[in-house]
Amino acid sequence: MLAQSSVDAPFAHSVLQWYEKFGRKNLPWQQNKTLYGVWLSEVMLQQTQVTTVIPYFERFIKTFPNVTALANASQDEVLHLWTGLGYYARARNLHKAAQTIRDKYQGEFPTQFEQVWALTGVGRSTAGAILSSVQNQPYPILDGNVKRVLSRYFAVDGWSGEKKVENQLWKLSEQVTPTTKVAEFNQAMMDIGSAICTRTKPKCDLCPLSNDCLANKFEKWTEFPGKKPKKSLPEKQSYFLILSYQGKVWLEQRESKGLWGGLYCFPQFDDKQTLLNFLKEQGITEYQEWVTFRHTFSHFHLDIHPIYVEVDRKSEESDRSDWKKLSEKGKESRSGLLSAVKYWYDPTSPEQIGLAQPVKNLLTQFVRNYYG
Ligand code: SF4
Repeated sequence: MLAQSSVDAPFAHSVLQWYEKFGRKNLPWQQNKTLYGVWLSEVMLQQTQVTTVIPYFERFIKTFPNVTALANASQDEVLHLWTGLGYYARARNLHKAAQTIRDKYQGEFPTQFEQVWALTGVGRSTAGAILSSVQNQPYPILDGNVKRVLSRYFAVDGWSGEKKVENQLWKLSEQVTPTTKVAEFNQAMMDIGSAICTRTKPKCDLCPLSNDCLANKFEKWTEFPGKKPKKSLPEKQSYFLILSYQGKVWLEQRESKGLWGGLYCFPQFDDKQTLLNFLKEQGITEYQEWVTFRHTFSHFHLDIHPIYVEVDRKSEESDRSDWKKLSEKGKESRSGLLSAVKYWYDPTSPEQIGLAQPVKNLLTQFVRNYYG
């Protein structure tokens, strides 16, 4: 649906005037704008702050300067560049969408809203952001920042994760988005949401919308947007087996779907006893328990218990038979491992593979301990 407002309507006028003075105009993806570059940035910016995204964006665009380069890359290369940015499904979707663009649109990024929205990993807001930013097509957006601004300005009750509330916010976004200068307007809304109408302590005295904002008028900004109904996250346990041999560590690739899909991890066990039984079968009785730490996903907490074992030459000689069977051992008590690819990884001259963030942190700890 196209936007309804004009640049002279009070809301759009205030936002655009503010943009002229304060809006961000120097972000890397705003220079020599292309549909490809803005798409990359929009996907990276989902759930991630601008300052974190910038170096990732720059590395990505340098390595994959166009859609076809990205489509032709291996998934490992893509995940490698994504390591540390989190929410890895975004990288897999990006890669898949690039292949769709290569195969269906001859490598040319589509310009029809429905075609862009249909790409894997692209929602309505992202499609609108891409086409409005590069081509000034008059599509509204509704990312987390814009939701917060609109919820407060119009005092919209309820949690925006509920369909009914989200639909109401979309209607409001359609109403306030002008039919021209959409690129500037949408950028300004994102900027106001991230820099001024912040989650806690919004800076209403700096906000161009403060005169008519209901949350500001009644000093009730803490009530908007409505909170997500509280649900405590379940806790899970995982035992990571860090096998080291002559400065290398054993990594296995997870299956491409699901948690940490396609990334390389240490062998993982759901309980300690199965891991210890496995070690015992290999004649290993000595191991070190590293400090347990927590990694939180959107839907559960994972308590990671690293167990470190240095294997000797004898074990290495039997590598082909023993370690390669590792994925089969205790498989029933382990989660998500396919072990399609598994090998001794050298952290001092790392290959281009994707690593889950806790694995990356443990490798850093390993290098520090082992190499000093
Ligand atoms: S006036 Fe305050 S609460 Fe209202 S939109 Fe601006 S920053 Fe947010």
